[in-house]
Amino acid sequence: MRVVALVRRELRLDDNPLWQHADGRNEVIPLFVLDDFNQQEHGDNLRALFFFALRSLRESIARHGGRLFCIHTSQQEVFFATVKPDLVLFCEDHEPHSRERDKQLCRLFDRLSIRYQVLRDSTIVPMPDQAFVTFTQFYKRHFLPLLPDCLTTFPPPKNFNTPELSVPEVPLPEVQSDAAIYWLADEEGVQQKWRRFVCQGLSAYAERRNLLTEDATSRMSPYIRCGLISLRKMARDAMGMSEAFVRELAWHDFYAHLLHHFPETTDVEWKREWQGFPWRHDEKAFERWCQGRTGIPLVDAGMRQLQREGWLPNRVRMVVASFLTKHLQIDWRWGERHFYRYLVDADLAQNVGNWQWVAGCGADAAPYFRIFNPLLQARKFDPNGDYIRCYVTELSHVPNDALHDLERLRSFALDYPPPMVDLERGRETFMELARQHFAS
Ligand SMILES: Cc1cc2nc3c(=O)[nH]c(=O)nc-3n(C[C@H](O)[C@H](O)[C@H](O)COP(=O)(O)OP(=O)(O)OC[C@H]3O[C@@H](n4cnc5c(N)ncnc54)[C@H](O)[C@@H]3O)c2cc1C
Repeated sequence: MRVVALVRRELRLDDNPLWQHADGRNEVIPLFVLDDFNQQEHGDNLRALFFFALRSLRESIARHGGRLFCIHTSQQEVFFATVKPDLVLFCEDHEPHSRERDKQLCRLFDRLSIRYQVLRDSTIVPMPDQAFVTFTQFYKRHFLPLLPDCLTTFPPPKNFNTPELSVPEVPLPEVQSDAAIYWLADEEGVQQKWRRFVCQGLSAYAERRNLLTEDATSRMSPYIRCGLISLRKMARDAMGMSEAFVRELAWHDFYAHLLHHFPETTDVEWKREWQGFPWRHDEKAFERWCQGRTGIPLVDAGMRQLQREGWLPNRVRMVVASFLTKHLQIDWRWGERHFYRYLVDADLAQNVGNWQWVAGCGADAAPYFRIFNPLLQARKFDPNGDYIRCYVTELSHVPNDALHDLERLRSFALDYPPPMVDLERGRETFMELARQHFAS
């Protein structure tokens, strides 16, 4: 049998449903299709990691008797008509653009009478037919009951046995990014990082996951985004060791399911009553937030980490997003787009879902009056100020107690910007705006 396996986000050999026919008896043709839309939408940090991982996968495939082909979308029809596969495999993708692309692809296969099979890899459990509106319902009624049957892994490929083909190919893009350097890893490197976390961090995850130290969480999100590690494998390893970790993986599935059922939420608020909320569109204030020059140390540390490394911890993502949408009342869509451009783990479903959650307008979102106080958050999760000092170098000499006190901070760091907003006044302004909006 001749099988074309379309590689999209599953850049690994291990536990990959795409390779289920690579047993040496079939001809398996791994194919990557370069898509202009994705090239324009994705930021360089993600693209640099992605193409690094794709090159490394291409080498691994070659070591197993295979060859990965790379063509442009415009060449697809000719490719499939020439190669005439008996079967095409590809994994489902819940982003609106990808669903539209796959609809057209299926039409092409129907026209060419090519059999195809859609597989699941980007979520642990299958999509529910009906949407769940709260995470707890999704988790208890859908995720947990299905989980045990969804953990079977796929055997590694034996031999791809890729036939010689003469098809016009395009080169894989070379993408430069200073931030991606912090993350570049091949499949073996990612497995090692994961094993280290399982041995050293997983059992304490529930207690430590909000601390702003390097080893508190797995830092697997960039690798999940590129499919360098299998979510099934992570869930299997974590079960019995950390329920809290499995629950976080379930959030990942939950947000994918929300985007699947509510694709319009990339642009509009999930909660109808929030639509038309008078968000501010203040470009100057937004720019200060992006640059990490708000004068609020934890916010600035997070935004500068994003600039430098293309990543920041979940706790800090919540704090900076809350500061933007609540204290500055700036449109969550602006923040979402900025994150999407710079995050090395940028993922539409996760990013939109989480931004709407923090802003208060998403499914099962935090109530609008829950506003993170960045000073209290810093005191609680970065008590020694190590995280702040690491990214806000102007504050490296400031003693702890002054670091979490804006009044005292001024006398120690004259070159650090004063707070762009009084935290209490910003909070009240938001509350008043919300009260007026919901009353109207
Ligand atoms: C405003 C905002 C934007 C975000 N944007 C993205 C994004 O674009 N891409 C992305 O992958 N995550 C996003 N997240 C979710 C979360 O911050 C990251 O997944 C997490 O920080 C990754 O770090 P980790 O791998 O060390 O996570 P760990 O704590 O080790 O958790 C393990 C895995 O569980 C999943 N997970 C953990 N927390 C969440 C969460 N809040 N929502 C969904 N899944 C979660 C992730 O897949 C993560 O890798 C966002 C969160 C916020 C608040």
